[in-house]
Amino acid sequence: MVDVLAEDFASICSASNYTEPFLTHKNHTERIKLRFQTTKHLSYNIDLTIFELHTALSVIKHTSPGPDEKTIGIHFCKRPLHPDPELFMSGVPIRFQDNYKFLGIVFDTRLTFLPHIASLRKRCLRSLNSLRTLSNTSWGADRSCLLRVYRSIIRSMIDYGSVVYGSARPSYLKLLDYVHHQALRLCLGALRTSPIPSLYAEAFEPSLSFRRDKLSLSYYFWILSNDNHPLRGTLLNEITAVYFALKYIDVHEIRKSILYTDSVSLLESLRNSSTRNPLIKEVKDFYRHLLSKGARILFSWVPSHVGITGNELVDKSAKSATEFVTRPIVYADVRSAVNQWCHCQWQEKWNMETNNKLHVIKPVLSHWITKLNRRCAVVLTRLRIGHTRLTHKYLLFAESPPTCSHSGDILTVKHILTDCVAVNRRRLRYFRSSSFDLSFLLGQIPHFNLFMYLKDIGVFHDI
Ligand SMILES: [Zn+2]
Ligand SMILES: [Zn+2]
Repeated sequence: MVDVLAEDFASICSASNYTEPFLTHKNHTERIKLRFQTTKHLSYNIDLTIFELHTALSVIKHTSPGPDEKTIGIHFCKRPLHPDPELFMSGVPIRFQDNYKFLGIVFDTRLTFLPHIASLRKRCLRSLNSLRTLSNTSWGADRSCLLRVYRSIIRSMIDYGSVVYGSARPSYLKLLDYVHHQALRLCLGALRTSPIPSLYAEAFEPSLSFRRDKLSLSYYFWILSNDNHPLRGTLLNEITAVYFALKYIDVHEIRKSILYTDSVSLLESLRNSSTRNPLIKEVKDFYRHLLSKGARILFSWVPSHVGITGNELVDKSAKSATEFVTRPIVYADVRSAVNQWCHCQWQEKWNMETNNKLHVIKPVLSHWITKLNRRCAVVLTRLRIGHTRLTHKYLLFAESPPTCSHSGDILTVKHILTDCVAVNRRRLRYFRSSSFDLSFLLGQIPHFNLFMYLKDIGVFHDI
């Protein structure tokens, strides 16, 4: 049976079955090498779409009450000075707007998402004020409670739609980082000068960019696990099909090949150099890897309605191929794998922070629970991060760094806790030892006498 199918498939796909117009098209397109980085504007199907839109609008009166104030148009377009199309509903022209809020996300004509990010940031900053009142460093709520408040009222706003607006330019997305960092600083009671990676590690809260990767990947697999999702069978299937085609080329060491697709969006996403879709990135990396091994692979666009025999069959087999790989996936399993993967990425980044003071104390990222009152928890956090008022206030006032009144050394947390010889006797009394490293005092379970020692040497209130 397999042989019959294979033979059938081979005969349908063979060149002898090509129609005349397709052959002409094929000969033409095969000479064009597609590059992934190009800014050329593609206008496939645009006329058709506008025509269809006109037709749809002209018959819409059967289902809608007629022209109203609520109907607006938005022209997604990156071409400069390209006029909006004229569209009518029951004879009344449709008003066009530069941006429009749809399901809580502000879409703009160039899909930069800058208006969305700006309004989101404004809302977040307003909510940050309530966090500010709760997070006083002497009598405020405890850290885990504050982090819970942050995650539920502010981070949830940032999460919403991040799968969509996450494609924005990194410099725009950075606007939201300020909210995230400010919130973590408030929850931890950390000083303004604290390094950002330390905030992430101490709060056990990843950067927004890792967060977006995690949400996008989870969303992607959620779509795959959901048979009825409208996004299934479109771009995702196409990308998966390309991936498997490349894999095939790799395994069978095929030197020259042409991949045909009728999906313009697939080709555009592959040629878009700034894509942030992790799956597309993976496919592109794989493609480059094959090129570097000497394979020649061309992508060719085939209009879906040119009457190619076997086109439907190819479509069908592409779908069954993706179904074959996606069927065994259970979303819950995938989600924990995604979480794990994202955590590993973060840990790898943290591993490189060898000069970070917190890294010495907490090399492995994990959730450290502190059962201390707010003041002590804040002091502990600042000591771990290595930025205290005593040692780093000078940065905020553009002064020179403070020095130890006993030895003249530059004052650091390490100097105060482990190095300063002037308080050696007291260190011995509180810690039963005079030579130890910082993690002995500031580790997951801080030393029982830490705060007494700090009070005794008179620095507790300066931290
Ligand atoms: Zn346009
Ligand atoms: Zn000293």
